[in-house]
Amino acid sequence: MKSQQTHDISPWNQNNEDLLTVTEQQVDEYKTTYENFQQQQDQYKKQKVIKVNTINCRGETRLIRKLIAINNWKEVFNNGDICWLGLPFKLQNFEEYFTQHVNRFPGMDLLAHKTQSSFYLNKFAQYFPDQYEFFPKTYIIPDELDKFQQEYKSTRTYIAKPDAGSQGDGIYLIKKLKDVKANESMVIQQYISKPLLIDKKKFDLRLYVLIISLDPYLCYINKEGLARFCTVDYEKPNDKNLRNPFMHLTNYSLNKRNTNFQFYNGKNILDINEGTKRTYSSIKKNLEIQGYNNQDIENQIDTLVVAYLQSLLPFLEFNQKLVFQKKVGEVKQCFQILGIDILLNEKGKPWLLEVNSNPSFQIEHEVFAANGKSVFEESYIDSYVKELVMGDAIKLAMISKEDQEELSEFGSYRKLDVDSTETVFSKMMQLYGYLSGYKFQEFLTSSKFQKLANFPQMISQTFLKHDYDLLFRKIILKSSNNNLMDFFQFINAIEQLAVRLNQDLETMLDRIIENF
Ligand code: ADP
Repeated sequence: MKSQQTHDISPWNQNNEDLLTVTEQQVDEYKTTYENFQQQQDQYKKQKVIKVNTINCRGETRLIRKLIAINNWKEVFNNGDICWLGLPFKLQNFEEYFTQHVNRFPGMDLLAHKTQSSFYLNKFAQYFPDQYEFFPKTYIIPDELDKFQQEYKSTRTYIAKPDAGSQGDGIYLIKKLKDVKANESMVIQQYISKPLLIDKKKFDLRLYVLIISLDPYLCYINKEGLARFCTVDYEKPNDKNLRNPFMHLTNYSLNKRNTNFQFYNGKNILDINEGTKRTYSSIKKNLEIQGYNNQDIENQIDTLVVAYLQSLLPFLEFNQKLVFQKKVGEVKQCFQILGIDILLNEKGKPWLLEVNSNPSFQIEHEVFAANGKSVFEESYIDSYVKELVMGDAIKLAMISKEDQEELSEFGSYRKLDVDSTETVFSKMMQLYGYLSGYKFQEFLTSSKFQKLANFPQMISQTFLKHDYDLLFRKIILKSSNNNLMDFFQFINAIEQLAVRLNQDLETMLDRIIENF
């Protein structure tokens, strides 16, 4: 039977010619299945009372309590459906949360430091240069000080960021080599000196990405986000303005100390306004007026985020296996919201500045009274954006994996198409896991590293078994982990091994893994 009705009710491919030949009975079946699905969804919306455990909440407590109230969820201090962890988390402690959803993936916090995350991104830029041209050239100091000094160009500006710093702390711009304070652990990055300006000011974007599952790898980006503005008109860096943080750094915590700071707490946050913090929706309206193509910018941002997420997968899979290996089947899903900081240049090209595994979910704003004392009041813009980001993430985390796979959109989130095929990094991670025995200590000893010598073609006339120990010591020389090698150092070691044995890295990895 040819039935127009079939087309209307079928949730599947509407252009499929086969559907034109289905029987009436099949039509009814489709209809029932689809209606059941709809009912399930409606029921879920009405009935699901999510029990949120807030015992480990920190700065996000106010937001989470607000979401609990709005959605009629229940706050609990023991067990629950989901436990929100407000602090970075040790791998070992994940065991406590096997039966709840938690908002962190094991290991993600290992990438919290600037040097480690930059190392990881640099490695990806090295292996996949086409996909990684959105990450400004970055040097890890002190390890790459020589390289920086060789590649330094006096016509360029660089930005130095201390390893453990955040919120702009300790950051400074460099034009002359002598200004580098090389005694501390930090990264030096090429400064994007021609940013896109709105109202003559530099700004950056804080967008939110949600990883909801590793297998299958399901990732979403939130359609809303924040823009953080500088509070002094931008000029190209020169000796006079180089030290003016209000011109060059967009950190909110820093700019709020400037008298030019404008706190917009009106309701029209989606429209053009003059606030120092604005929504991404509002920014897009400014960009449109300036003649930029928002869709094109968004596509470029998606490409950048997808490449980043691809690079992250082997690392997350490894740590997931490390923690949950014996518990497969029993564990609830982890999910995580990442804060992605993006700077647009004057051509509308996005640059990745930083990924924050612990983005702020604070919704209070510090207001200074006439007597100089400060009070905290709710910031409408923070509430609006963060309610979407956290609220929809929790709701999405609570639905079944099958439904998550089906949904290309969920509330304020849009699914990203991330390729999860194996890369050379998955192989390095796999080998690292084999050598360490997937034990909780995420480090290798020299004797474990030396196991590699036992595999076919892993010694040569110029590289003998005892050379493994020498290579191991050379690599860990600058590290503070007493005689232990971490994954980042292992990548360097395995690369050097391939060079010393005169082998193609990926073929060498394949052969070892095959014989393990
Ligand atoms: P933090 O974690 O301390 O905020 P960021 O890496 O986010 O460190 O840098 C702080 C600010 O400095 C950014 O928000 C941005 O305004 C500016 N910034 C950082 N890196 C660059 C860069 N490569 N080019 C231009 N501006 C940058």
